[in-house]
Amino acid sequence: MKTAIVIGSGLGGLEVALILLRHGYEVTVLEKGRQAGGCLQSFVRDGRRFDTGFHYVGGLGEGEPLRPLFAYFGLMDLPWEPTTEEILIGDKRFRIPRGIDAYVEMLSEQFPTEKNAIQTYGNLLREVGDHIFDAFEKGPSPLMGVSAAQYIENNFRDPLLRQVLSGSTMRLHQDANTLPLYALAQIGGSFIRSAWRLPGGGKAITERLTAQIEALGGVIRTGAAVTGLRLADGKVSEVLVGESETLRPDLVVSDAHPAVTMALLRDSGVIKRIYRERIASLENSPGLFTANILLKDNIFPLPEGELHIHQEDADLWHPDPRRTDSVLVHPYPEGGMLDLLSPMPLPERGEGYEALKRAKLEQCLDLAEKGIPGLRNAIAKVYTSTPRTWHDYTGVPGGSAFGILKDWKSPLTTLLSPRTTAGNLYLTGGSLNLHGMLGVSMTALITAADILGRQIYLEIER
Ligand SMILES: Cc1cc2nc3c(=O)[nH]c(=O)nc-3n(C[C@H](O)[C@H](O)[C@H](O)COP(=O)(O)OP(=O)(O)OC[C@H]3O[C@@H](n4cnc5c(N)ncnc54)[C@H](O)[C@@H]3O)c2cc1C
Repeated sequence: MKTAIVIGSGLGGLEVALILLRHGYEVTVLEKGRQAGGCLQSFVRDGRRFDTGFHYVGGLGEGEPLRPLFAYFGLMDLPWEPTTEEILIGDKRFRIPRGIDAYVEMLSEQFPTEKNAIQTYGNLLREVGDHIFDAFEKGPSPLMGVSAAQYIENNFRDPLLRQVLSGSTMRLHQDANTLPLYALAQIGGSFIRSAWRLPGGGKAITERLTAQIEALGGVIRTGAAVTGLRLADGKVSEVLVGESETLRPDLVVSDAHPAVTMALLRDSGVIKRIYRERIASLENSPGLFTANILLKDNIFPLPEGELHIHQEDADLWHPDPRRTDSVLVHPYPEGGMLDLLSPMPLPERGEGYEALKRAKLEQCLDLAEKGIPGLRNAIAKVYTSTPRTWHDYTGVPGGSAFGILKDWKSPLTTLLSPRTTAGNLYLTGGSLNLHGMLGVSMTALITAADILGRQIYLEIER
């Protein structure tokens, strides 16, 4: 039986592990953290479970893009609940209705002079979402090489409409100078079709994938950091674990950030320095500050669903992580808790770190109060984390939330292939293609197809 090591137990690592097990590999997942899941991890305080990364997904409805992927990974019978999205810009509130037709109708009512352009945009969202699996046969869409900002500027005149169309900088989190139209349409469009949250959060996804992996004989080892990869004869010959363990698998798949994977290589071998340097030089999305909030009681009226609150004068197409212009409010389906998420540059630990966190929290609360008046007084406890926390836990450069940025000007450089020049070393995870539950699940399939052959695409019931 062929043996495989998967480095990292994020969504991508667990999904690839499951596919390899289904195809007869003996798989061990090595996770440096104490918990499996990567950005799906959660933590318990005061008896309540808070999420860290994943909060909600788009496109899980019938006929929508994420559904066949989550069905394939055995995640569809988790207790997904539909949720709603609202955007608050200054005092203007836009409730995103479910479905592209309803979205087009809502925007057309609010901006009647731009009805035709809105309709055309709706068609684009539908086209991209309906053909997401073309990526399996044809590779990346040509829309990866088209600027989202130029499309919006050329087609829409009203500055407020342009702001609303940016959807949520939290999901894309990228300056318009680089954002590809495909990323806007694929990620944004999937949430416009439908948005879903999950009681039990990211842990429920991790547990479901872990159970399937273990049922097939796979092993997930936490507290098992890969500390080096040795190359010989054009492939990875040894995987070094911790201080003293050496493994010699047939296949290695890394779900760690590609720059982290390259830094593990102990010798130059077949992976050229120029390739490693290119990966290390690629820009990453900024990270996120998170405030996990326990409320005093359950009767405080929380928003029904996800609430994206933006300063009135924010430029949502050119977000500046140094400013607290945007905050996402995520109320937990279980009630009594909510999270605030807001972009933030990587802070240094040490003197001033706690004060910086407190200041960022206050800025987030000021903004959140615009959507939920009285929130401050309803807080029982609050736990905060910064991009530094992510940097320390998952090793991701700069504490980036979404990994390597895709640039419409150079899609071929910023989209990474799962294959490396070391014959048995493959990459997966949110930095290769697009991020998030949809992007990572697509990439897991693409990585697995590079290893096992394209026939595995036929296993997805579309
Ligand atoms: C704050 C935040 C909020 C988000 N919210 C959402 C959301 O609501 N919806 C959505 O769809 N997406 C969301 N995302 C994005 C989504 O969570 C990620 O795109 C996805 O989970 C990334 O999965 P991954 O497999 O690529 O990597 P990761 O989850 O980063 O996993 C990589 C794993 O590799 C491990 N690792 C690294 N180096 C080593 C080593 N040397 N040895 C062993 N293990 C190693 C790390 O510890 C980590 O567990 C959010 C992300 C963040 C940060």
